[in-house]
Amino acid sequence: MEHKINAYNNLLELVGNTPLIKLNKITANLEGNFYAKVEGFNPGHSSKDRIALYIIEEAERRGILKKGSTIIETTSGNTGFSIAMISIIKGYECILAVSSKSSKDKIDMLRSMGAKVYVCPAHVSADDPRSYYEVAKRLHEETVGSIYINQYFNELNSEAHYKSTGPEIWNQTNGHITHLVACSGTGGTISGTAKYLKEQNPNIRVIGVDAYGSVLKKYHETGELDTKEIYPYRIEGLGKNLIPTATNFKVIDEFIKVTDEESAHTAREISRTEGLFVGYTSGAVMQAVRQLEEMGEFNEDSNVVVIFPDHGSRYMSKIYSDQWMADQGFFDSKNVEEPQKIEF
Ligand code: PMP
Repeated sequence: MEHKINAYNNLLELVGNTPLIKLNKITANLEGNFYAKVEGFNPGHSSKDRIALYIIEEAERRGILKKGSTIIETTSGNTGFSIAMISIIKGYECILAVSSKSSKDKIDMLRSMGAKVYVCPAHVSADDPRSYYEVAKRLHEETVGSIYINQYFNELNSEAHYKSTGPEIWNQTNGHITHLVACSGTGGTISGTAKYLKEQNPNIRVIGVDAYGSVLKKYHETGELDTKEIYPYRIEGLGKNLIPTATNFKVIDEFIKVTDEESAHTAREISRTEGLFVGYTSGAVMQAVRQLEEMGEFNEDSNVVVIFPDHGSRYMSKIYSDQWMADQGFFDSKNVEEPQKIEF
């Protein structure tokens, strides 16, 4: 006799359809209503599950990927984790070239998920043969039957969000969203989501979050890549030292820059006040919201959706380590006290 078992066939059926959660405390002094799309609820704990699954299944549909094929990518960690997870379930090899800026947790985690990981220097230019772009390209050329996801230059990246994140937010807000505030790394999340939302209502304001040390904001304003804008910063996954073609600058109204220090403190504050354990760039998004509020962007009728891209567990040796925060000098500013240690 066949029993009706209420189970998913595998993890991949759980990708997307993440919850929209009202922020109640961290936004207490702000005008408007604020809702977080919490992407840490994906099975791979970040928004990157959406693009990895979409791009891999598109390659399957086109007959490019076959059982045993190798999938190659450059990644700050999250996309790599998603590809590794999907590769296990679907039976592919996964090779990842990652930046040395990525946290040790992320790299260990990728290796635990069966990926072959190459760690490449973070502070070299994109066309340097040691950069993770060049390493991935070379591995792709050398590995017969491989595909290169190439998330910064793949139009399927934003298409994944156009088909999933955008419609989900529109439905979850019943069309009452007034603002979207999201980080821009590859730009896939903000571009795909914003394109869908603006097709429903062109008045929705879309604000991209960029890092000091990245070129995106200046490029959006001037149309030129200003290399003087480039310098090292700590936030992973946000901002860029080149212009990704996966970013559709036309659907983004404005960029706002945030600092490493304020973003780190704000992420810790989200965890402490909302009980939502989120990653570094979620702090960056909330920090941007605070700056936008000071600039008069919102009023009491604003329904602001922010995207929290990943889960805090990936940052235990960084923003959630008091020692790391102290080493960066992030407890030195006037307003923030180093947490007290309790000794026995
Ligand atoms: N936050 C984190 C933690 C990320 O890994 C990324 C992806 N690089 C982003 C934000 C930005 O998302 P996107 O690449 O879609 O712009």
